[in-house]
Amino acid sequence: MAHKSGFVNIIGNPNVGKSTLMNSFVGEKLSIITSKSQTTRHRIMGIVNGEDFQIIYSDTPGIIKPSYKMQDSMVGFVKEALTDADVILYVTDTYETIDKNEEYLEKLSKIDIPVFLIVNKIDLATKEKIAEIETVWKEKLPKARIFYCSALMGTNVSNIFDEIMAVLPEFPPYFPKDQLTDKSERFFVSEIVREKILLNYRKEVPYSVEVVVEEFKEDDVIIRIRAIIYVARETQKGIIIGHKGAALKKTGTDARLDLEKFFEKKVFIELYVKVNKDWRDNERQLKQFGYL
Ligand code: GDP
Ligand code: MG
Repeated sequence: MAHKSGFVNIIGNPNVGKSTLMNSFVGEKLSIITSKSQTTRHRIMGIVNGEDFQIIYSDTPGIIKPSYKMQDSMVGFVKEALTDADVILYVTDTYETIDKNEEYLEKLSKIDIPVFLIVNKIDLATKEKIAEIETVWKEKLPKARIFYCSALMGTNVSNIFDEIMAVLPEFPPYFPKDQLTDKSERFFVSEIVREKILLNYRKEVPYSVEVVVEEFKEDDVIIRIRAIIYVARETQKGIIIGHKGAALKKTGTDARLDLEKFFEKKVFIELYVKVNKDWRDNERQLKQFGYL
C-alpha cells in the first residue's frame, strides 16, 4: 500500500479548541510519538503514525508563515518544501466573531493548500446558530471545506481525520517512525536554512539545494550548529557564497535570528557550501538526507 505523509497545521485563535482537537485525533488514532515542545512559535505538537501514514500536526501559525513566503518565491516548487502544510485546519468555534482576523483570512482564502474550516464546540450551539455560522464562513472562505465537530465530545473528529487522509500526499515518512526527538531539531534547522536560501537568492538558486546539519550541540546557554549546503554545480557554490562571502554571511545571519527565536536560545551557526552533483539520483545521498 502506498504510504502517505504530510504536515497538518492547526491554526486559529486561542481557546477555540485546537489542542483539544489535536488530542482527540491522537487519542483516536494510534501512537503519538512526541509532544516535545520547541517554542510557542514553531512546534511540532504531535506526530501520529500508522502503518501506511504519518501525520505531523502543529498548532501554531509560525510554521505556516514561512511557507507562504516560500510559496511566493518558489511557485512550482512548492511540493519540494518539506515544511509546507499539506492541509490547514482553521479552527473556530461557535462563539467567535469572524472579523477578528480579516487579513489572515484573506490570505487563507487565496492559498492553494487545502483548507478545512473546523467549527468546533457544536455541542454548545443550536442548529439555528450553526446555520448562521455556515452562511458567514461560506462567504469568507468559499474554497474551504467546512466541518462541524465537538473536539471535547469527539463528535465528527474521525470524519475530519478521514478527510485529512484523503488529501494527504503519497510520500515516505518524514521522521523515523519510532524515534523522533533529536531528529526534529536538525530537521527544522535544515528547513530554516533552506528557507533563507530560497528567500535570499530567488531564481538564481535551484531548488535542488539541500541542507544537511552535521552538528547540533546544545548546552545551557548556546546551541552550536554546523550545516552543509549542498549544491549541484561549482557556479551555484559561487552564487551561494557571494562576493567576499557576503551572501552566505547574510543567509547565516538570517537563519541564526530565526533559529534563536525558534529554540529560544542563543545560536551559533556555521554554514559551508559543497558541490555534490546529482544528489537527487544518488540513493546513498538520498538516504543520508533522509528521503529514503
Ligand atoms: P486552544 O487554545 O485553541 O488550544 O483551545 P483548547 O483546546 O485549550 O480549549 C479551550 C477550552 O475550550 C477548554 O476549556 C476546552 O475544554 C474547551 N473546548 C474545546 N473543545 C470543546 C468542545 O468541542 N466543546 C466544548 N464545550 N468545549 C470545548
Ligand atoms: Mg492550545
